[in-house]
Amino acid sequence: MRTVALLLMLVSGFASAAPVTAPDPVAEDTLLANITRRAFDAPEAMLAELQQRWPTHAEPGQPREAAWLMARGRVLLAAGQAGAADAVAVQLMAREDGVDRSWLLRALAQERTGRSATALAARALAGLDKRCPAGDEARAVRELGCDFRSAWEALRILQREQYAQGAFAVAETSIRRALALARAGDDKHLTALSHGLLAVAQQAQDRMDAARAELRAAATEAAGDLVAGARVRNYEAAVERRARDMAASRSAVEAALLLAEQADAPHLAAQLRSNLVDSYMHLGMAKEALAAGQRAMPVLQRFGDRFYERSLHHNLAVAHIKLRQFDQARQELAKVSEFGTDPADLVPRARELRELGDTWGEAGQYKEALAALHAERDLNTRANERNRAAALEELGRKYDSAAKQRDLDLLARDGQLKDQQISNQQLAQQVGFAIGALLLLSVALIGVTLVRMRRAQARLTANQSLLRAQSERDPLTDLSNRRHFLAVMDQSAREARGEGFVGALMMIDIDHFKNVNDWHGHAAGDAVIVEVARRIRAAVRDTDLVVRWGGEEFLVFAPALPGDDLALMAERVLRGIGSQPIETAEGPLRITVSIGFASFPLGGAAGAGLRLHWEQAVNWADMVLYQAKAEGRNRGVGISAVEAPDAHALAAVLQDFDAACMNGQVKLRQLPGPP
Ligand code: GH3
Ligand code: MG
Ligand code: MG
Repeated sequence: MRTVALLLMLVSGFASAAPVTAPDPVAEDTLLANITRRAFDAPEAMLAELQQRWPTHAEPGQPREAAWLMARGRVLLAAGQAGAADAVAVQLMAREDGVDRSWLLRALAQERTGRSATALAARALAGLDKRCPAGDEARAVRELGCDFRSAWEALRILQREQYAQGAFAVAETSIRRALALARAGDDKHLTALSHGLLAVAQQAQDRMDAARAELRAAATEAAGDLVAGARVRNYEAAVERRARDMAASRSAVEAALLLAEQADAPHLAAQLRSNLVDSYMHLGMAKEALAAGQRAMPVLQRFGDRFYERSLHHNLAVAHIKLRQFDQARQELAKVSEFGTDPADLVPRARELRELGDTWGEAGQYKEALAALHAERDLNTRANERNRAAALEELGRKYDSAAKQRDLDLLARDGQLKDQQISNQQLAQQVGFAIGALLLLSVALIGVTLVRMRRAQARLTANQSLLRAQSERDPLTDLSNRRHFLAVMDQSAREARGEGFVGALMMIDIDHFKNVNDWHGHAAGDAVIVEVARRIRAAVRDTDLVVRWGGEEFLVFAPALPGDDLALMAERVLRGIGSQPIETAEGPLRITVSIGFASFPLGGAAGAGLRLHWEQAVNWADMVLYQAKAEGRNRGVGISAVEAPDAHALAAVLQDFDAACMNGQVKLRQLPGPP
């Protein structure tokens, strides 16, 4: 069968290779989901099983390749083979139907290292969303080929960090969407987990009854599935722990552990044991905590579960301190610090340090307690400063130098224009005097003078409008300049009478342009700017306003665009510039740009209808451009939704943009540039 397929591919060419028809893809996806799930506790066995079952219709270029690759990537991750999983992500990226899953796989890999995976998960979800529109999940799964399990996983990652940030209502929204997807796909396991997650989110918002109802629903869905049952009991434990019922929490974890052992799920059991450490600690059972933790540790290490391992080291340190085994405690803490601190984890790290400081203090070890306190304060300060400082510094740096030069240019132009106007007035005056004089001389001469005067007047008018046009055009690229854009904005602001800015903005900045100047000279730099301007013009409509915003920055203003048109336009610009080298006297140069784009009024449920001044709109476009630069350039980043109840909240979002992206208040749309 495989040989036949290969022969077919050779005969008909790779691209048009006849696809081998897959058996029922729904059944196959269920099989792959089960293998992936079991891999959590038996990765090697599942790796072998996948290999052995790998069908012809999942060979390279065949229709089901992406689904099988994704399963392999996830199983490799479970086996701790991050490098091999990364190679699978690269393979997925090369397939059009694998891009979103590739991002998701990277998010899952990142999550396993304990670092923030939100950005990657959001990117995956942005792509998956196209086939899984929110609110219409059942139809999406039935008719649009929505990959509901991948979307579910991306949402799980997002909600986890939203929850960690304290954005419980946002997390709840994510989970409700995940639940709708699990239901639409008729996946009981995921449905049970969704209810469990919802229970935790409900409790966090002090809705204990709703939380209990969700736990009951979760238990019903998990019936007959031991692993799902164990996970649901673990959610129950989390709910009780947060509600400060430590005894109830402990018995829920113990029940979960029993189920995990029945299911022969050693990895899950080890995770549950390390949760048990926490329960025992809260109940003052330090010895039991130590025993459970020491049993879990080698298993977590065997499974390469860094996330749990790290927090278990911390918990063991606390237990040792309570038992006054200070040397062992220090050994565990040394292990914790080997893991380092990811900048995204500053907040949970600080929380751990507080617990540590308190425990050292209770044990009378004041020097250690003080050190922990200082370290905690340090981390908190760093966490607070991190986002704001980064954003402000970059913005300030960009604006300062550019704005000064532009103001000087405008002033100079203004001066020239005024000089011309004055000399025109003088000319008109002289003509007037001449008429007076000529009137006295002779009637015949009046006719001649009148003709002259009319010519002078015409020249004057022509000169003035030429000057105005020149003062609103950029001489190098012949695009509109900033002054013209300002005039257009002021005009439409007056027409809109305070209704706010409406339309789409696209801020474009050439990548690493300094290198062009430095390596090929200013003339080549200018040639690149001219050609980039031309390609931008070619990629947008004639009615769109293209502005040379600064040295090598361009702004496109388009009247309100429907649906995806703005993203399509940004994509045309990315491709138009990046896929063909630019010819210069120094030879052809490959130039790419980064784009920030957004449509106003800003979309999203609560953000809809919030009116902005056009200058604020430009700031938003600038902010996402900055994001595109930070993410590696040659890409577009757009605002796809913003959640802000009022203008004040909207301004706050811009103030701390990173945080708003992390907690899901801002959803970004990612457009990779041409390879
Ligand atoms: P990045 O990817 O971060 O945008 O890197 P970059 O090198 O493009 O950095 P930046 O945008 O800060 O650099 C802009 C440079 O463009 C600085 C300036 O020397 C150059 N430049 C500005 N206007 C002109 C111009 O009219 N002609 C030429 N040749 N160079 C210009
Ligand atoms: Mg620039
Ligand atoms: Mg640049």
